[in-house]
Amino acid sequence: MNYEYIDTHTHVNLQAYKEDWEEVIARTRAAGVAHINVGTQQDTSRRAVEMAEAYEDGVYAMVGLHPVHTDASYHDEKEFGPEQKGFTTRGEVFDTDYYRKLAGSEKVVAIGECGLDYYRISPETKEKQDAAFIAQIELANEVGKPLMLHIRPSDDPSAPNAYEDAYAIIKKYAKVRGNAHFFAGTVEDAKKFWDVGYSVSFTGVITFTCDYDEVVQAAPKELIHAETDAPYVTPVPYRGKRNEPLHVREVYKRIAQIRGEDEAALRAQLRTNAQHMYGIAL
Ligand SMILES: [Zn+2]
Repeated sequence: MNYEYIDTHTHVNLQAYKEDWEEVIARTRAAGVAHINVGTQQDTSRRAVEMAEAYEDGVYAMVGLHPVHTDASYHDEKEFGPEQKGFTTRGEVFDTDYYRKLAGSEKVVAIGECGLDYYRISPETKEKQDAAFIAQIELANEVGKPLMLHIRPSDDPSAPNAYEDAYAIIKKYAKVRGNAHFFAGTVEDAKKFWDVGYSVSFTGVITFTCDYDEVVQAAPKELIHAETDAPYVTPVPYRGKRNEPLHVREVYKRIAQIRGEDEAALRAQLRTNAQHMYGIAL
Protein backbone atom coordinates (compact mmCIF):
# COMPACT_ATOMS: atom_id res chain seq x y z
CA MET A 1 0.00 0.00 0.00
CA ASN A 2 1.03 3.59 -0.62
CA TYR A 3 0.65 6.00 2.26
CA GLU A 4 0.71 9.71 1.54
CA TYR A 5 -0.30 10.76 5.03
CA ILE A 6 0.30 9.65 8.59
CA ASP A 7 -1.82 10.40 11.64
CA THR A 8 0.83 10.17 14.35
CA HIS A 9 -1.52 10.12 17.35
CA THR A 10 -4.98 8.61 17.30
CA HIS A 11 -7.11 6.17 19.28
CA VAL A 12 -9.06 3.68 17.16
CA ASN A 13 -8.18 1.35 20.06
CA LEU A 14 -10.75 3.10 22.29
CA GLN A 15 -14.37 2.18 22.95
CA ALA A 16 -15.66 4.96 20.71
CA TYR A 17 -14.85 2.57 17.80
CA LYS A 18 -16.01 -0.61 19.43
CA GLU A 19 -18.68 -1.28 16.80
CA ASP A 20 -16.88 -0.29 13.62
CA TRP A 21 -13.11 -0.18 14.17
CA GLU A 22 -12.50 -2.52 11.24
CA GLU A 23 -14.36 -0.26 8.84
CA VAL A 24 -12.61 2.79 10.23
CA ILE A 25 -9.20 1.19 9.69
CA ALA A 26 -10.18 -0.08 6.24
CA ARG A 27 -11.23 3.33 4.97
CA THR A 28 -8.21 5.01 6.57
CA ARG A 29 -5.79 2.66 4.81
CA ALA A 30 -7.72 2.84 1.54
CA ALA A 31 -7.34 6.64 1.60
CA GLY A 32 -3.57 6.30 1.89
CA VAL A 33 -3.50 7.39 5.53
CA ALA A 34 -1.25 5.44 7.91
CA HIS A 35 -1.97 5.82 11.63
CA ILE A 36 -0.59 5.16 15.09
CA ASN A 37 -3.00 4.07 17.83
CA VAL A 38 -1.84 5.32 21.20
CA GLY A 39 -2.41 3.45 24.46
CA THR A 40 -3.61 5.31 27.55
CA GLN A 41 -3.47 2.50 30.14
CA GLN A 42 -2.93 -1.28 30.15
CA ASP A 43 -6.03 -2.43 28.21
CA THR A 44 -5.94 0.26 25.55
CA SER A 45 -2.18 -0.25 25.09
CA ARG A 46 -2.60 -4.00 24.57
CA ARG A 47 -5.47 -3.34 22.19
CA ALA A 48 -3.33 -0.91 20.16
CA VAL A 49 -0.65 -3.58 19.74
CA GLU A 50 -3.17 -6.27 18.73
CA MET A 51 -4.63 -3.98 16.10
CA ALA A 52 -1.24 -3.02 14.68
CA GLU A 53 -0.17 -6.65 14.49
CA ALA A 54 -3.32 -7.58 12.59
CA TYR A 55 -2.31 -5.45 9.58
CA GLU A 56 0.62 -5.81 7.27
CA ASP A 57 1.14 -2.07 6.99
CA GLY A 58 -0.33 1.32 7.78
CA VAL A 59 -1.21 0.61 11.43
CA TYR A 60 1.22 1.15 14.32
CA ALA A 61 1.03 1.35 18.11
CA MET A 62 2.36 3.16 21.16
CA VAL A 63 2.06 1.83 24.68
CA GLY A 64 1.90 3.77 27.91
CA LEU A 65 0.01 5.21 30.84
CA HIS A 66 -1.69 8.59 30.38
CA PRO A 67 -1.06 10.92 33.33
CA VAL A 68 -4.77 11.25 34.18
CA HIS A 69 -5.00 7.48 34.63
CA THR A 70 -2.42 7.53 37.40
CA ASP A 71 -5.15 8.97 39.59
CA ALA A 72 -8.41 7.53 40.93
CA SER A 73 -11.87 8.01 39.39
CA TYR A 74 -11.08 9.53 36.05
CA HIS A 75 -13.69 8.51 33.49
CA ASP A 76 -14.10 9.21 29.82
CA GLU A 77 -17.05 7.71 27.99
CA LYS A 78 -15.32 7.79 24.60
CA GLU A 79 -12.43 5.87 26.05
CA PHE A 80 -14.12 3.24 28.17
CA GLY A 81 -17.67 3.20 26.77
CA PRO A 82 -21.07 4.23 28.16
CA GLU A 83 -21.62 0.89 29.91
CA GLN A 84 -18.85 1.87 32.31
CA LYS A 85 -20.60 5.08 33.34
CA GLY A 86 -20.10 5.97 36.95
CA PHE A 87 -17.23 3.56 37.51
CA THR A 88 -14.19 4.69 39.40
CA THR A 89 -10.67 3.48 38.82
CA ARG A 90 -8.14 3.04 41.56
CA GLY A 91 -5.59 4.75 39.45
CA GLU A 92 -2.99 2.66 37.64
CA VAL A 93 0.56 2.35 38.89
CA PHE A 94 2.90 1.97 35.91
CA ASP A 95 3.90 -1.68 35.68
CA THR A 96 7.16 -1.70 33.75
CA ASP A 97 7.09 -5.47 33.10
CA TYR A 98 3.64 -5.33 31.57
CA TYR A 99 4.56 -2.51 29.20
CA ARG A 100 8.01 -3.89 28.42
CA LYS A 101 6.40 -7.01 26.96
CA LEU A 102 4.13 -4.93 24.75
CA ALA A 103 6.99 -2.62 23.77
CA GLY A 104 8.84 -5.61 22.34
CA SER A 105 6.49 -5.70 19.35
CA GLU A 106 8.05 -4.34 16.16
CA LYS A 107 4.85 -2.41 15.58
CA VAL A 108 5.34 -0.40 18.78
CA VAL A 109 7.04 2.82 17.71
CA ALA A 110 7.08 4.81 20.97
CA ILE A 111 6.32 4.79 24.69
CA GLY A 112 3.31 6.84 25.79
CA GLU A 113 1.21 8.74 25.96
CA CYS A 114 2.90 9.79 29.14
CA GLY A 115 3.68 13.10 30.78
CA LEU A 116 2.02 15.71 32.96
CA ASP A 117 -1.59 16.86 33.00
CA TYR A 118 -2.10 19.98 35.12
CA TYR A 119 -5.68 20.52 34.03
CA ARG A 120 -6.91 18.81 37.19
CA ILE A 121 -4.18 18.52 39.71
CA SER A 122 -3.55 18.09 43.44
CA PRO A 123 -0.20 17.61 45.22
CA GLU A 124 -0.93 13.89 45.53
CA THR A 125 -1.82 13.58 41.83
CA LYS A 126 1.32 15.47 40.92
CA GLU A 127 3.47 12.95 42.77
CA LYS A 128 1.80 10.02 40.99
CA GLN A 129 2.14 11.68 37.61
CA ASP A 130 5.84 12.37 38.14
CA ALA A 131 6.53 8.79 39.19
CA ALA A 132 4.68 7.26 36.21
CA PHE A 133 6.33 9.70 33.81
CA ILE A 134 9.85 8.92 35.03
CA ALA A 135 9.20 5.16 34.93
CA GLN A 136 8.07 5.46 31.30
CA ILE A 137 11.11 7.53 30.35
CA GLU A 138 13.28 4.80 31.85
CA LEU A 139 11.47 2.14 29.83
CA ALA A 140 11.88 4.23 26.66
CA ASN A 141 15.61 4.57 27.38
CA GLU A 142 15.85 0.82 27.89
CA VAL A 143 14.04 -0.20 24.71
CA GLY A 144 15.45 2.67 22.66
CA LYS A 145 12.10 3.99 21.46
CA PRO A 146 11.00 7.64 21.56
CA LEU A 147 8.45 9.20 23.93
CA MET A 148 4.92 10.29 23.09
CA LEU A 149 4.29 13.15 25.49
CA HIS A 150 0.94 14.34 26.79
CA ILE A 151 1.53 17.71 28.44
CA ARG A 152 -1.54 19.68 29.38
CA PRO A 153 -1.25 23.10 31.01
CA SER A 154 -3.54 24.38 33.74
CA ASP A 155 -6.23 26.98 32.99
CA ASP A 156 -4.95 28.96 35.93
CA PRO A 157 -2.14 31.28 34.81
CA SER A 158 -0.67 31.34 38.33
CA ALA A 159 -0.25 27.51 38.35
CA PRO A 160 3.14 25.95 37.51
CA ASN A 161 3.92 25.61 33.79
CA ALA A 162 3.39 21.97 32.76
CA TYR A 163 5.79 22.40 29.81
CA GLU A 164 8.61 23.69 31.98
CA ASP A 165 8.11 20.90 34.50
CA ALA A 166 7.96 18.19 31.82
CA TYR A 167 11.04 19.62 30.14
CA ALA A 168 12.97 19.53 33.43
CA ILE A 169 12.10 15.84 33.88
CA ILE A 170 13.11 15.03 30.30
CA LYS A 171 16.41 16.87 30.65
CA LYS A 172 17.17 14.90 33.78
CA TYR A 173 16.11 11.40 32.70
CA ALA A 174 15.57 10.97 28.97
CA LYS A 175 18.17 9.50 26.62
CA VAL A 176 15.71 9.24 23.74
CA ARG A 177 13.86 11.80 21.65
CA GLY A 178 10.13 12.37 21.63
CA ASN A 179 7.11 14.32 20.53
CA ALA A 180 4.97 16.79 22.50
CA HIS A 181 1.53 15.87 21.20
CA PHE A 182 -1.47 18.25 20.94
CA PHE A 183 0.90 21.12 21.44
CA ALA A 184 -0.85 23.83 23.45
CA GLY A 185 2.00 25.92 24.79
CA THR A 186 3.78 29.05 23.64
CA VAL A 187 6.59 29.40 21.09
CA GLU A 188 8.91 29.87 24.06
CA ASP A 189 7.81 26.55 25.58
CA ALA A 190 8.16 24.82 22.21
CA LYS A 191 11.68 26.12 21.60
CA LYS A 192 13.03 24.28 24.60
CA PHE A 193 11.78 21.01 23.13
CA TRP A 194 12.99 21.80 19.61
CA ASP A 195 16.45 22.61 20.95
CA VAL A 196 16.82 19.06 22.23
CA GLY A 197 15.44 17.47 19.04
CA TYR A 198 11.90 16.91 20.27
CA SER A 199 9.07 17.47 17.82
CA VAL A 200 5.57 18.89 18.29
CA SER A 201 2.33 17.69 16.73
CA PHE A 202 -0.85 19.58 15.93
CA THR A 203 -4.46 18.41 15.92
CA GLY A 204 -7.71 19.50 14.27
CA VAL A 205 -7.85 22.29 16.86
CA ILE A 206 -5.83 24.44 14.44
CA THR A 207 -8.73 24.29 11.97
CA PHE A 208 -11.06 26.16 14.32
CA THR A 209 -8.82 28.44 16.40
CA CYS A 210 -5.87 30.63 15.48
CA ASP A 211 -4.38 30.33 18.98
CA TYR A 212 -1.53 28.12 17.81
CA ASP A 213 -0.76 29.71 14.44
CA GLU A 214 2.40 31.31 15.78
CA VAL A 215 3.79 27.95 16.96
CA VAL A 216 2.78 26.27 13.69
CA GLN A 217 4.70 28.96 11.80
CA ALA A 218 7.74 28.93 14.08
CA ALA A 219 8.22 25.14 14.15
CA PRO A 220 11.33 23.84 12.33
CA LYS A 221 9.98 21.87 9.39
CA GLU A 222 11.72 18.66 10.41
CA LEU A 223 10.11 18.74 13.88
CA ILE A 224 6.40 18.80 12.99
CA HIS A 225 3.80 16.02 12.83
CA ALA A 226 0.06 16.06 12.17
CA GLU A 227 -2.41 14.07 14.24
CA THR A 228 -6.13 13.77 14.92
CA ASP A 229 -6.22 12.58 18.57
CA ALA A 230 -9.47 10.95 17.39
CA PRO A 231 -12.15 10.43 18.68
CA TYR A 232 -11.53 13.88 20.19
CA VAL A 233 -11.19 17.35 18.58
CA THR A 234 -12.80 16.77 15.17
CA PRO A 235 -11.51 19.26 12.57
CA VAL A 236 -13.57 21.60 10.40
CA PRO A 237 -15.64 20.69 8.31
CA TYR A 238 -16.59 17.61 10.35
CA ARG A 239 -17.23 19.35 13.70
CA GLY A 240 -20.03 17.70 15.71
CA LYS A 241 -19.20 14.21 14.36
CA ARG A 242 -16.91 11.59 15.81
CA ASN A 243 -13.36 12.20 14.64
CA GLU A 244 -11.31 9.56 12.83
CA PRO A 245 -7.75 9.21 11.49
CA LEU A 246 -8.83 9.93 7.91
CA HIS A 247 -9.48 13.55 8.91
CA VAL A 248 -5.78 14.14 9.50
CA ARG A 249 -5.89 15.36 5.88
CA GLU A 250 -7.66 18.50 7.14
CA VAL A 251 -4.85 19.08 9.64
CA TYR A 252 -2.26 18.81 6.85
CA LYS A 253 -4.23 21.26 4.75
CA ARG A 254 -4.36 23.79 7.58
CA ILE A 255 -0.67 23.45 8.51
CA ALA A 256 0.27 24.09 4.87
CA GLN A 257 -2.02 27.15 4.81
CA ILE A 258 -0.71 28.63 8.06
CA ARG A 259 2.91 28.14 6.98
CA GLY A 260 2.27 29.22 3.41
CA GLU A 261 3.71 25.97 2.07
CA ASP A 262 2.83 23.67 -0.76
CA GLU A 263 0.73 20.77 0.53
CA ALA A 264 2.50 18.06 -1.47
CA ALA A 265 5.87 19.26 -0.13
CA LEU A 266 4.45 19.21 3.41
CA ARG A 267 3.23 15.63 2.95
CA ALA A 268 6.69 14.55 1.85
CA GLN A 269 8.28 16.38 4.79
CA LEU A 270 5.90 14.82 7.32
CA ARG A 271 6.61 11.35 5.95
CA THR A 272 10.32 11.97 6.44
CA ASN A 273 9.64 13.27 9.96
CA ALA A 274 7.67 10.14 10.88
CA GLN A 275 10.53 8.03 9.61
CA HIS A 276 13.10 9.95 11.65
CA MET A 277 11.12 9.99 14.87
CA TYR A 278 9.30 6.63 14.75
CA GLY A 279 11.25 4.62 12.19
CA ILE A 280 8.16 4.30 10.02
CA ALA A 281 9.07 4.09 6.34
CA LEU A 282 5.97 4.84 4.27
ZN1 LIG B 1 -4.30 10.99 22.91
